[in-house]
Amino acid sequence: MKPQGLLIVVSAPSGGGKTTICEQLLRHDRRLGRSVSATTRLRRGREREGREYFFVTPAEFRRRIKQRRFIEWARVHDHYYGTPRQAVERQLAAGRDVVLVIDVQGGLAVKRQYPRAVLIFVMPPSRQVLAARLRGRGTDTQATIRRRLQNARWEMDLAKRYDYQVVNRRLQDAVEQIQAIITAARLRVGIENKTKRRPKT
Ligand code: ADP
Ligand code: 5GP
Repeated sequence: MKPQGLLIVVSAPSGGGKTTICEQLLRHDRRLGRSVSATTRLRRGREREGREYFFVTPAEFRRRIKQRRFIEWARVHDHYYGTPRQAVERQLAAGRDVVLVIDVQGGLAVKRQYPRAVLIFVMPPSRQVLAARLRGRGTDTQATIRRRLQNARWEMDLAKRYDYQVVNRRLQDAVEQIQAIITAARLRVGIENKTKRRPKT
């Protein structure tokens, strides 16, 4: 049987810890691959083209949408972000599991196209902790933080449609819980197998 990798979506409100958690997942699991999204937002600090994102103009982003080069795309905090189709599908076809660190709109769009995708939402322990972590990260202005905290409300609301929710209180616990979800997903028996006729005995 041809191996087909799993898509694993990890979402969280900004500051929820998804980047930190996924770095750890990728470091400890060689079967996991990542996807580098395209975005219209400007490069920040130490970010490098092709490592964190592919930075493109709005015109180029629109061209790629028309060419159906994204599995999903969404407007998040005033900018556009999209998951490149070809790079992800190549990894899946080679039997690699791919983690997508994308927003909730993107996660739900992925599930519509890939019903086997596993959607994991990382919840902050509280709004206060989320605000403190956003401030502590030191990458955003006060106005940006306020905006991101406002968005966190509807993002957490949409998270009800995800397959799993993991509270990111202690980092190591959250990482281990997500590793357990991934292990279970890899062992899951597909619907396609269940509907096959049993051989006569
Ligand atoms: P996101 O990618 O979801 O926006 P980050 O991974 O950048 O969030 O995390 C936001 C900040 O919170 C970072 O400074 C990170 O080091 C910190 N952080 C993440 N998880 C935890 C945790 N469990 N305990 C304490 N700090 C955390
Ligand atoms: P940031 O600009 O802080 O790196 O990311 C902002 C938000 O965009 C985060 O919630 C991040 O997960 C989301 N994001 C990054 N890439 C993609 C993508 O390809 N698609 C979607 N839908 N969201 C993305």
